[in-house]
Amino acid sequence: MVNFSRWRALGALLLCLLLILSAGAGGGTTIPLTPQEEAALYSLKNLSPVDLTPKRVKVEVYIPNVSETAAFIRLWSKVWPRVQSFYARMNVFPEQVPGQLRPGPLTPAQRLRLEVLPQKEWLARTFQAFNVAPPFQLRFLKVCENKYAFAHLPLSTVHFSYQRFAQAVLSSEPGSEPANVTWLANLIIHELGHLFSLYHAHEFTNDPVQEYLPDGRTPNFMSHHLTGDGDMGFVEFQKLMVHSYLSGGKVFQQLRLVEFDPLRHLDLLKRHNGFKEPPADRPPRTAPKAFGDYTEDDDDDDDD
Ligand SMILES: [Zn+2]
Repeated sequence: MVNFSRWRALGALLLCLLLILSAGAGGGTTIPLTPQEEAALYSLKNLSPVDLTPKRVKVEVYIPNVSETAAFIRLWSKVWPRVQSFYARMNVFPEQVPGQLRPGPLTPAQRLRLEVLPQKEWLARTFQAFNVAPPFQLRFLKVCENKYAFAHLPLSTVHFSYQRFAQAVLSSEPGSEPANVTWLANLIIHELGHLFSLYHAHEFTNDPVQEYLPDGRTPNFMSHHLTGDGDMGFVEFQKLMVHSYLSGGKVFQQLRLVEFDPLRHLDLLKRHNGFKEPPADRPPRTAPKAFGDYTEDDDDDDDD
């Protein structure tokens, strides 16, 4: 249901826009490290020692009580425990706090925010978060066509458009509620993964994170295979990254130095770990209901 080649072209456009915008906003500040220090900091070979004690993270949940979100509000009490039980497997304990219209004191790795919005508000907040000025907004709209959520690490916030996701992915057949709950939970688990520092499973071909676990059938939660029948999983490396980030360890320092910009982070990880991107013409692995959600989904081949 998603046209991948078009998607990639649009992703490339988005990336160009982001590069222009971030350059204009002075986002390319130099890292105050020697080349050797930079290489050591961004190497993921030796993350240890990582503090693996239980981590508690507050998540403000803001859901305006309007008709577009009514169905989500009904499902939420079943969705959130699924999100919590997934992260409990990682010894991470997100705690929900009620969100107001205005964000509370958000802090990376400590207090995050999930906004479940009607489509119009979602677009408005997405433009704002990416700092997309009106001349670019029409083109940016195209980029948003197949996307339902964006995780903004610098803002510690996820914006999610429920209704479009429901129309495109969820089923309204009788008896479909359990699957809908699972897929909603999977999407939120995935987005929180970005706010916990993680990048996509399909980003590199030679890193420890592949789209499926070694059993060959359990999707990694940072892949786009979020609408399967079974559980999603993670690899130990991701658990280490998350704990390192949430405890203010090496991964947190990596991101702090690039002002929590995931694209710059990814580029440094690639450079200092010898990670390789998949070939540009790689056919996507079958994902019956794949959905995009993040800025660098489509730019694997275009970010040099
Ligand atoms: Zn994502």
